[in-house]
Amino acid sequence: MDNIRHTRPLAEGFWTVSDGGLSLLGHRCASCGEVFFPRRKHSHCPHCFRQTLEEINLGPEGCIVSFSIVMIAPAGEFYRGPVPYAYGCVDFPVGVRIKGLMARDDLDTLDVGITVTLTVETLYVSDEGMHVETFVFKPQKNAERKSDEAAKPHA
Ligand SMILES: [Zn+2]
Repeated sequence: MDNIRHTRPLAEGFWTVSDGGLSLLGHRCASCGEVFFPRRKHSHCPHCFRQTLEEINLGPEGCIVSFSIVMIAPAGEFYRGPVPYAYGCVDFPVGVRIKGLMARDDLDTLDVGITVTLTVETLYVSDEGMHVETFVFKPQKNAERKSDEAAKPHA
């Protein structure tokens, strides 16, 4: 019996695993400093038009700036994952805002301002039995909004 789990990424080249762990892959322009995700298909920077893009690891952590919980699967074949699911924007410290799915087990803990960690989950299993994986953002344990301190009333 074949116990090997066959996997493939939903899209190639979005993330990498190295000694430092899981990280998204992006480009940074050495001339103007702009950061891009995913990596640019063309070699020039769309802001300064120089050909000075360098591949960088964007790191494993960011901060949720917005999200939506989707209760009904969208029409068409572009999304084959489970519902409900959450999709949102995460700011990474290197200076880039990345759109992506949130970890499906943590929908109740999602909040704007909390720190999330990059992880990879199976989005769906294809008709051929292939586990199709994508990157997702998972709230850190005991995740708290960074803005909560400011929102508390003063004693
Ligand atoms: Zn540039």
